[in-house]
Amino acid sequence: MDKGKKNSNTFPASALHVMDGIEQPGQINEEALRKLKARKHKVYTAEELIAGILSGNRTLLSKAITLVESSLPKHQEQAQEIIAACLQIQNAKCKMQNSEISQAESPLSSIRVGITGVPGVGKSTFIEALGKHLTAKGHKLAVLAIDPSSSRSKGSILGDKTRMEELSVDPNAFIRPSPSAGSLGGVARKTRETILLCEAAGFDVIFIETVGVGQSETTVHSMVDFFLLLMLAGAGDELQGIKRGIIEMADAIVINKADGDNVQKAKSARVEYANALHLFPPPGSGWIPVADICSARSMLGIDHVWEIIVEHRETTTKTGFFQKRRMEQSRQVLFETIEDGLRNHFFSRKEIAHLLAKSEYEIMTGHVNPYKAAQELLEQYFTGSEVVK
Ligand code: GDP
Repeated sequence: MDKGKKNSNTFPASALHVMDGIEQPGQINEEALRKLKARKHKVYTAEELIAGILSGNRTLLSKAITLVESSLPKHQEQAQEIIAACLQIQNAKCKMQNSEISQAESPLSSIRVGITGVPGVGKSTFIEALGKHLTAKGHKLAVLAIDPSSSRSKGSILGDKTRMEELSVDPNAFIRPSPSAGSLGGVARKTRETILLCEAAGFDVIFIETVGVGQSETTVHSMVDFFLLLMLAGAGDELQGIKRGIIEMADAIVINKADGDNVQKAKSARVEYANALHLFPPPGSGWIPVADICSARSMLGIDHVWEIIVEHRETTTKTGFFQKRRMEQSRQVLFETIEDGLRNHFFSRKEIAHLLAKSEYEIMTGHVNPYKAAQELLEQYFTGSEVVK
């Protein structure tokens, strides 16, 4: 329809007539838009990213994390360069400070806290509440996630913008959704590297969130100093989908939603869990896991949860367990990285891919047994390679 005619005052008699909206203005400033786009797509050198991270620049930190998460060999190479440089500079700073204070007391040594619990227990509300408490105290908080469902849904538990609304605009908080692709092992490696970058950027408290439904808790436990399990009162362990093994890993169990009619139930649950937890003190740590209650909604007990985490840090630093746990985790990273590298190298070889497809078919049709097939594949892989004696 002709525009001039539509905008005229001669309305058709029909009640269904739709008024035209106003005409859209053109782009206000084409030049500004072009610059913005150019900045967004600018490729930074590793040196620029390292300098950016060390100066606490969150945009450059995000870009470096994107490299860590990328599977492109070129990006991986750059990511490793950045991580190595950040670690080297951090270590040098730590050594300088160590002449006066111990490493665990050093402000450069962050606290890494794993937070788990079934969907709906209140993890994001809790992280928002505790996070705001911490940034108000002057801490810098990074919130990362390990989300086993994200590779399937291509979404992420932290990708939803409505979660942690206040924290996501807090200048002292940095929220990064879970890397969305790859195996749990791959996601774990990326998260570990992301922790290092966040620490280099000055974040002294790192939260790693995961959904309490599977193997990811063990993974998160293997990269944190303190493991916190959020629970609800009045629902049995089975109902909450929490396995006994996860309770055994917890440094503290906090029963959330202790508000309104729920307070008494939460208090009873605390006694029950406190009894259960006394059975599982981590050997040599000097720490006896605690049970507590809180309300993320009303902020009740949130400050006390932080006091527990700080007390754990002090106790385990004195017993040497804090450092031992981190060293043990580093040792684990060494083995996991080697295993990952070997697996990737094995599966990326053309002749193996070909043989593997053949062996799979032969196994499925009952022509060969899997042990023999695996043996042959390994022999083929090692042919020509020197065996280390
Ligand atoms: P998540 O799935 O574990 O991250 O849980 P959410 O933080 O999204 O919370 C799930 C629901 O529980 C939301 O409706 C929250 O408002 C509510 N919730 C969270 N914490 C509390 C609390 O301390 N008290 C009450 N009454 N409700 C809460």
